[in-house]
Amino acid sequence: MINTIGVIGAGQMGNGIAQVCAVSGFDVRMSDVSKEVADRGVASIRKNLERQVTKRRISADDMEAALARVETGAEMSLFADCDLVIEAASEIEHIKRDLFNALCPVLKPEAIVASNTSSISITRLAAKTDRPGKFIGMHFMNPVPVMKLVEIIRGIATDHPTYEAIIDLTAKLGKTAVSAEDFPAFIVNRILLPAINEAVYTLYEGVGSVQSIDNAMKLGANHPMGPLELADFIGLDTCLAIMNVLHEGLADTKYRPCPLLVKYVEAGWYGRKTGKGFYDYSGDVPVPTR
Ligand code: NAD
Repeated sequence: MINTIGVIGAGQMGNGIAQVCAVSGFDVRMSDVSKEVADRGVASIRKNLERQVTKRRISADDMEAALARVETGAEMSLFADCDLVIEAASEIEHIKRDLFNALCPVLKPEAIVASNTSSISITRLAAKTDRPGKFIGMHFMNPVPVMKLVEIIRGIATDHPTYEAIIDLTAKLGKTAVSAEDFPAFIVNRILLPAINEAVYTLYEGVGSVQSIDNAMKLGANHPMGPLELADFIGLDTCLAIMNVLHEGLADTKYRPCPLLVKYVEAGWYGRKTGKGFYDYSGDVPVPTR
């Protein structure tokens, strides 16, 4: 029975996951590199929920009750009483591995560990822990409170009770589960990221400007966001990390990351979260950077 859920990483995904869990009535523990950073995650949750209150989607009392269910910290001991811990730290494999090494010794033996990784092998992450049977992928979509899908990825060792418990939890969070096999980038990103990477190539080769590429896909393919706008929203560092995983994991040159994407990441232009990517977000209206 899952009652208390830990979330490691209070960034855009972590705080979204924590929000959805808290609003659904679960007790939540959320950590980041420091308590201050984790508390900034809670401030984002408050801002999001205040918007929901304004739109009368939830009551102010329910908002305060949800926020009161979220405890923050920076130590692994925060997760000692958790039934499930969802890792949503940066998409860097050695960071995740080190986190699991530090996490597992403080957990209850029956606790489940999930990773929100966009692309790293669940089987490989699980193998380095003391509980590969109780390790699973729970891949939420961004923004978590809005997007209905969670991809559920079983590693080769994931046991059936763990899978059932996570399918059940996903429904309790008001989300729809889709099962994906443990191959690089699973389903959504296997299809979406090469499309975004191709949009960056289209820009790199001068076929179109940022504006024309995004308008073309919005108006010509009926996509709600253009691919470059979407890349900024996901985070260009995350996009590059996923392309690298596809390229290395599937050993096919069709997945090579566009050099322009690499350049943006090298510049620290990660998209919305740093204020600049394919668009500059410093003014009232996003302005294309090319
Ligand atoms: P983010 O950069 O917004 O947040 C990552 C957070 O992890 C940061 O707050 C960082 O301080 C924290 N962190 C780094 N090292 C840590 C450590 N040792 N201990 C605790 N916290 C640590 O990134 P994000 O977009 O929230 O992505 C997080 C994860 O979710 C990644 O695995 C990513 O692939 C996955 N994901 C991202 C998206 C997306 O659209 N951005 C969608 C689905 C899944």
